Amino acid sequence: MPESEVPPKTHFIRRIIEEDLGSGKCTRVVTRFPPEPNGYLHIGHAKSICLNFDMADSFGGHCNLRFDDTNPEKEEAEYAYAIEEDVRWLGYEWHNLCHASDYFDQLHDYAVDLIRNGHAYVDSQDSETIRETRGTLTEPGTDSPYRDRGVEENLDLFARMRAGEFPEGSHVLRARIRMDADNINMRDPVLYRIRRQRHHRTGSAWSIYPLYDFTHCLSDSLEGITHSLCTLEFEDHRLLYDWILDHLDVPCHPQQIEFSRLSLEYTVVSKRLLQRLVQDGHVDGWDDPRLPTLRGLRRRGYTPESIRTFCEVIGVTKKDSRIAMNVLEDSVRDTLNAEAPRLMAVLDPIRVILTNYPEGQTEMLEAPNHPNDPSMGTRQVPFGRELYIERSDFMEDPPKKFFRLALGREVRLRYAYFIACQEIERDTDGNIIALHCIYDPETRGGDAPDGRKVRGTLHWVSVEQAVPAEIRLYDRLFKVPDPAAEADLMAALNENSRIDMLQCQIEPEIRRLPTRVRIQFERQGYFCQDTESAPDRLIFNRTVNLRDTWEKIRQRS
Ligand code: ATP
Ligand code: MG
Repeated sequence: MPESEVPPKTHFIRRIIEEDLGSGKCTRVVTRFPPEPNGYLHIGHAKSICLNFDMADSFGGHCNLRFDDTNPEKEEAEYAYAIEEDVRWLGYEWHNLCHASDYFDQLHDYAVDLIRNGHAYVDSQDSETIRETRGTLTEPGTDSPYRDRGVEENLDLFARMRAGEFPEGSHVLRARIRMDADNINMRDPVLYRIRRQRHHRTGSAWSIYPLYDFTHCLSDSLEGITHSLCTLEFEDHRLLYDWILDHLDVPCHPQQIEFSRLSLEYTVVSKRLLQRLVQDGHVDGWDDPRLPTLRGLRRRGYTPESIRTFCEVIGVTKKDSRIAMNVLEDSVRDTLNAEAPRLMAVLDPIRVILTNYPEGQTEMLEAPNHPNDPSMGTRQVPFGRELYIERSDFMEDPPKKFFRLALGREVRLRYAYFIACQEIERDTDGNIIALHCIYDPETRGGDAPDGRKVRGTLHWVSVEQAVPAEIRLYDRLFKVPDPAAEADLMAALNENSRIDMLQCQIEPEIRRLPTRVRIQFERQGYFCQDTESAPDRLIFNRTVNLRDTWEKIRQRS
């Protein structure tokens, strides 16, 4: 069946929604993606974005983008713009753009309702005491001496907190639940605290700010969210989510469903750790192509489609697991294999002189732009007396299984001729400066008429027409599969995660291709121009190599 008719992969959340629609528990599906605007989105967020938007799309519902911007000191407008851009780049359009801060008035009124009904009180202990009296997993907490304040006193104190009469840390608003609850989150959690800080959207209108647990469930309810999908660390908060909604007169009671976070091998997917890498200068900004941020992946050459495919492939479960990097790499390889035009580029060139080729002559050889998609057409590749080949395609003392070029051996130059190496030209220090070869004019674009066989086929570029470029090769950012678990994260960085090849030579066709096109350089992988690339200084990033050499090396060692 055509691809568009393949049913989407099912998972436990999809099944819950189907059941809810089937039983009439809900009649439409409304979801939201709720980032905190304190950093750039990463591949873990992509999992959540794809899940939330795809669930809404699948059932004809809608998904909101909601900034969880209750923390005045940490959020910046710059991040919010970047998040909008990244969600759109991934291919999604939200129904409403919302901000938790839009609900500050309503949230405040809900807090007043809780106080009125005896479900919340102002505690005047300092934050350290509150933490210490919360108890532990095995011991219950102890009641605050302020727990039994009367409603009127609580209302008055809360109003004065809001009016900015008190310093930070002098009072908080807490839910009155139970200090001996098994679930620590239920031991009179703090709902509001005093913060004398400007907020990037509400300015200085507020001197109290609601906490996440209070804000999130109510924002969901105010937006009519039906299924509030979040990661597993919120499982222990679900009781509180439900308690708050059960104790207030709210528009609806969304269902919180948790799924496991994405973790990826050899990298970190946590804004906090990514921020450290950026701030300490270990990488070149949030869009460093080695980072698993959406900006980094995009700069590296990942397509939105490949990231969505990846999210589909990994699925949605409640089981924590670390995904192998090659799952992500395969998703982009598959996309690019189908659509990337092929070109030849020599990354580490060595010069070849064809001693029997007429001086000053250039001929054009035809090469397909894609090996199995004739609709992508062909191009003309110039060929002449002097060529570049890859340094690693020549060996002075080759082992038996080396089928590439060596003294006295013959290979095929792709789309061109057989060549055989006759002599090595060296400088006075003994370094190789050129390989003197002869070509066989009878083998143009095909086999030798005498049936002679060669084992190796090399890529090459004509010296005269070659376009110089820099190419950046990337490897794992970290040396260990779970860097976040290391005592010293920075010591686990792979010092060879970026290698700059400065002397690359590309066939002239590169000048005719649009700058944003993703290309396969034959035998080298998939590449795209870097954001720093300019017509007089071409810079390419290797998105991914052709196969997973890393995995092979690891299996061997
Ligand atoms: P980080 O730990 O990177 O700071 P976060 O959870 O604090 O992540 P938010 O901006 O609050 O970041 O995340 C927005 C949404 O994305 C949340 O619903 C969160 O659960 C989800 N999310 C974040 N990281 C992942 C991940 N690794 N896998 C799946 N979903 C994630
Ligand atoms: Mg968060």
